[in-house]
Amino acid sequence: MIEWALHMETKNKITSFYIESLGCAKNTVDSHAMEKILIASGYKACLHPEDSDVIVVNTCGFIHPAREESVQTLQEFSKNKRNDQFLIAAGCMSEREKTHLDELVGGLDAAISTRRWGEIVKVFRQLERDATTPYFYFPETESILPGPDNIPGFAIQGKSAYLKIADGCDRGCTYCAIPLIKGPMVSRSVKEITNDALQLDQLGIKEIILIAQDSTAYGRDIGLDDGLPHLLTSLQDAVPNVPWIRIMYTFPGSISDRLIEVMKASEQILPYLDIPLQHAHPDVLKRMRRPANMISVKQTLLKMRSALPNLALRTTFIVGFPGETEKEYGELVDFVKEIEFDHVGIFPYYHEPDTVAFQTEDNIPEEVKNDRIQDLARIQEEISLKKNQSFLDQELDVLIEGNGDGISIGRSYRDAPEIDGLVLVQGIIKPEELVKVRITGALIHDLIAVIIK
Ligand code: SF4
Repeated sequence: MIEWALHMETKNKITSFYIESLGCAKNTVDSHAMEKILIASGYKACLHPEDSDVIVVNTCGFIHPAREESVQTLQEFSKNKRNDQFLIAAGCMSEREKTHLDELVGGLDAAISTRRWGEIVKVFRQLERDATTPYFYFPETESILPGPDNIPGFAIQGKSAYLKIADGCDRGCTYCAIPLIKGPMVSRSVKEITNDALQLDQLGIKEIILIAQDSTAYGRDIGLDDGLPHLLTSLQDAVPNVPWIRIMYTFPGSISDRLIEVMKASEQILPYLDIPLQHAHPDVLKRMRRPANMISVKQTLLKMRSALPNLALRTTFIVGFPGETEKEYGELVDFVKEIEFDHVGIFPYYHEPDTVAFQTEDNIPEEVKNDRIQDLARIQEEISLKKNQSFLDQELDVLIEGNGDGISIGRSYRDAPEIDGLVLVQGIIKPEELVKVRITGALIHDLIAVIIK
């Protein structure tokens, strides 16, 4: 029984809510969890904000553009909300800007710490009791508190689901605000995660996408050394019929031989790895306080490719980090040409307040950052096309996610949702089908295919 469910004297009767979820898949999972908690507490979820008594915006706040989008979204809702409607700010931007949220967004009725998303009902109850003054719920919280029991840690999209295995981060990358927002890493138990996976299996989910800030650190805080391969083995035992398990957000220097072994021995764990490297010049990586031994990074990638010949590699890079010289950028370009990743995300350095890097001057001009982004993107496009062309006439399994105008759109094992490429299959195929196709065409980011009957 949720202790704050006890109804005190209520002035404002709240019956329904709407959640607007911004940012990453981890935020999407938290939004779904808050929805489940609110429904379990008797509130009705609305599909449209205008139909609800309370609008909750689960904000994103790790870089400037994300914070701007969150503030604008809140300001828009604040401007348009009815007099008897409440507006709550949740998530990372509200956590990061908690000391002056009401200056950023007028008309906020309440806000809640992202480390206490599991206590969203407490904020609703407070608004029911008294909404005369904004209620900002940010008690000192060392680390993210787990949600109430039996509240799942996943978010479903079609026949795919993001499954959160941990949140928060113990790393100290100098440009990153996530540890400031989320606090230290908190792993969910293997039992909780496999229970969620069993639910997803019963719902006919075909792809489970494991997410955290750093999946390779999973379990360290709950006594599991090298916990990710251990978790993967448990998932394989628990849900052998789920076709695909995908790993996101691994950390260089933490890819263990055991993890490679488990991936190699499994059809179910996709030969796909998302490993954000952020740069390739040791001096820049040292300034970022990230693993700077590029020989070891290359050895790990080589080891993975020899163990998993059809491995699809995704990474991300930051260009324009303070002090990044032409030579340092040049070494990044050489590395990208040498490794030939399947997918690369390229971001400019953002000078984030309160991070370690904020103490150094943001001395790379915007136009230089943009030039380097365009230059690196052009180089990666050539590589991506060449990689896609190597799949011509090959067979792939594709999870269909939509169709129209005579074609169906899906993803293969090489493509994570929303960030990688697509497979365009001729013909209308029922969404959520996992079909075998033959690749007949290659584009820069996408493949063209025909279904194999
Ligand atoms: S690993 Fe580094 S970049 Fe990633 S969340 Fe942690 S501190 Fe931020």
